[in-house]
Amino acid sequence: MAEKRAEVGIFGGSGFYSFLENIEEVHVETPYGPPSNKIAIGEISGKKVAFLPRHGSDHQYPPHMINYRANTWAMKSLGVGQIIGPCASGSLQPEIRPGSFVICDQFIDRTSGRKDTFYDGPIATHVSAADPYCAAMRAVAYETAKELDIPVVNGGTVVVIQGPRFSTRSESKWFSSMGWEVINMTQYPEAYLARELEMCYLNISLITDYDVGLEGMPDIPPVSHEEVIKVFNENNDKLRNLLFALVPKLPEVRDCSCYNALEGARF
Ligand SMILES: [Zn+2]
Repeated sequence: MAEKRAEVGIFGGSGFYSFLENIEEVHVETPYGPPSNKIAIGEISGKKVAFLPRHGSDHQYPPHMINYRANTWAMKSLGVGQIIGPCASGSLQPEIRPGSFVICDQFIDRTSGRKDTFYDGPIATHVSAADPYCAAMRAVAYETAKELDIPVVNGGTVVVIQGPRFSTRSESKWFSSMGWEVINMTQYPEAYLARELEMCYLNISLITDYDVGLEGMPDIPPVSHEEVIKVFNENNDKLRNLLFALVPKLPEVRDCSCYNALEGARF
C-alpha cells in the first residue's frame, strides 16, 4: 500500500491527540468510504503515531454505525503496523473493578450486520481469529501498566454487543456466568479487520462500571451516573500516561505472527 507515514495507530477518544507533538491532519480516502474523521499524525518520543477517533470528531458515529473497514484500511494505507484500540467497557466479573484496565486476548462476537471482512471474493480468504490480539503488544502493555501502578488484568474475553442498546439483565448474567470478563460495543470487527490486513492489534479495556447483571450482588455497590463519569475521566488520564510510556517500548521488529496472517488463509 502507500508510503509509510506512521508506525503506530491509535483509535480512541478525541481528547487525546492534542497531546501529540508536531501534529499534521491528513484526509484519507479508502475503497470503503470515508473513515470516521481526518487522521492526526504526530509523534510520541520521536515515533510516528496516527490517531483516529473511531466515533468521529463530534462523537457522531455510535458503535453500530462506525465504518470499521474504512478506519482500519486508512491506518494500513498510512503504513501503520501496530494498532492500539483502547475502549471504555463494562465489567462482567465482581473482581474486575471500575478503574482497572483489562488487556483482552479473546473476543465473543454478539454483533450483527456489520461489514466485518475485506475478503468478499473472488479469492476465498479465511484469516484465523484463534488468537485475535497481538501477544507481543499485550506483554509490553501489561508490563508498562504495572510499572505505572495502573490496576491491570493480563488477558480476558470481551463480549462485543451490537448496541446501541445495553444488555438485558439475563443477557448480562449469561455472559458473566460463562466467565467472560468485559463487555463493549466496538471491539468487533475492529480488532479482526486489523488482523485481516496483517496489522498487530492491542486492546486496552478501560472499566468504567459493572454491567447490569451484577447489580445487587454482594460487594457490588450501586453507582451513580456522576461516579461513572468520574471513573471514565480518571481512566482517560491513566490511559494517556500509559500510551505515552507504551508507544516508545513497542517492538520495532514485529516477530509475532500477525504480520503474515494471510499465509495459508487462501485456498
Ligand atoms: Zn503482532
